[in-house]
Amino acid sequence: MSNLVWFRRDLRVADNMALYHAAKSAEKGLIGLFVITAQQWQEHDDANCKVSFWLENVRALSESLAKLNIPLLLADCDSFENTPAAILALAKQHKCSDLFFNREYEVNELRRDKAIIANCQAANINVHRFHDRVAVPPREIKTKDGRFYSVFTPYRKVWDSRVSEFIKPFPKPSKQNDTNIKPTAIPTQLDGFDFSNARSDLWPAGEAEAGKRLKKFANSIAAYDDARDIPSVPGTSLLSPYLAAGVISPRQCLNAAIKINDGELRNLAGPTTWISELCWRDFYSHVMVGFPRVSMHQPFKLKTNQLDWRDAASDFEAWKNGQTGYPIVDAGMRQLNQTGWMHNRLRMVTAMFLTKHLLIDWRLGEKYFMQKLIDGDLSANNGGWQWSASTGTDAVPYFRIFNPFSQSKRFDPEGKFIKKFCPELKNVSAKLLHDAAKLTKAIADTNSSYPDYVVDHKFARERALKAFKSLK
Ligand code: FAD
Repeated sequence: MSNLVWFRRDLRVADNMALYHAAKSAEKGLIGLFVITAQQWQEHDDANCKVSFWLENVRALSESLAKLNIPLLLADCDSFENTPAAILALAKQHKCSDLFFNREYEVNELRRDKAIIANCQAANINVHRFHDRVAVPPREIKTKDGRFYSVFTPYRKVWDSRVSEFIKPFPKPSKQNDTNIKPTAIPTQLDGFDFSNARSDLWPAGEAEAGKRLKKFANSIAAYDDARDIPSVPGTSLLSPYLAAGVISPRQCLNAAIKINDGELRNLAGPTTWISELCWRDFYSHVMVGFPRVSMHQPFKLKTNQLDWRDAASDFEAWKNGQTGYPIVDAGMRQLNQTGWMHNRLRMVTAMFLTKHLLIDWRLGEKYFMQKLIDGDLSANNGGWQWSASTGTDAVPYFRIFNPFSQSKRFDPEGKFIKKFCPELKNVSAKLLHDAAKLTKAIADTNSSYPDYVVDHKFARERALKAFKSLK
């Protein structure tokens, strides 16, 4: 009997818990499986660029597994509903006694896994599940009275005291007994998805690439604390697509940072802050598991359901297309549309602009980000959106509304980033780019086609404050 290991968003051979344990107990060889659920991915708003990135990484994974005598098979199921039966059929066909996989925490994924476990139990197939997606499993950290945390700082304190228990890396498995099964060819196209704008030039697939990025970033991590807020410089790791697809593990990232931090979680500013970001990643998974409503289109703060969000289709279009007349907002949105990724500072700026300046429901923004992001991840995206909209756990207070001009003055003082993505503004001096009162004239003086403000900052701020204050 063989073991079957089902890869989901853990597309790597190194430090992969399910794969490690499957290999350890495999006597008659090991078979890998990846399930394509195109229709489900569309329902989940998974971006074209992200699905393309997944498939490219599945191809890289298949090649790495082949070198270990592990054939990677593909099942095409369309939806999660069809997945349990397909996996069972495949397990029976290849006489597999045990199924191994790493857990996912989203509601639909949990339902799917529950059905698979029931199917396997009925067929006498043992199921082995592992917490591999995050550093500290979501249910491991609780308040003294057993509740899930909804505030980051106390969560981080407990996380600090527990994380070392969970980050021992798992070695890559050794070569397995040959199963004489041929791996399935990986498709280059998928019905319902358009890969023509996928940016594999910016986001090459594979564990080697992820490792290279981590190594490169480790050399500049000392500067992270200051550089991470400047969108014109590569001050962050650019690892989010790889972490989201599981091409690199949070353990690998944490171990690298801790090593530079002289073995500590909190020591030098750069690595300490980066570790904190990885802790936010765990925190948002913890929140999603503890308060599943957040992944079902509900705000964490339920009273914000009463907010009178505006129905403003043309404003929403202007935001999506980077045509709001606010340079830093537009540059951020264009970066997203052109590259599938947006700098964290700008994710906050653009999300707050949509929800506060335009008073448009955060759920529309969350959905749009998901449709565009190569690193789209339900817990982090939802967490970021609900933070920016002041509807979430530990969210920004509703009255702290970013002024886009102050933000660009502080984080893009020379306008380098703005001019890269808004070339219509190339002849406007950097000083005027951050001056709300003078920008309109500067645009006219330079014959620029850049649009006028979609809304006045002061008016928009007052409108948002009034809407939030009116909540009972
Ligand atoms: P680094 O600064 O190098 O951070 C390292 C890693 O830590 C990231 O790769 C990511 O995995 C994690 N991380 C960093 N910041 C956060 C955070 N605030 N919350 C959770 N994890 C974090 N991140 C996603 O991975 N997927 C998303 O869909 C996503 N949507 C977001 C939406 C909004 C509105 C906001 C404000 C933030 C969102 N983030 C999301 C978090 C953050 O913007 C990205 O993780 C970060 O920009 C990725 O770039 P990096 O890998 O260079 O990050």
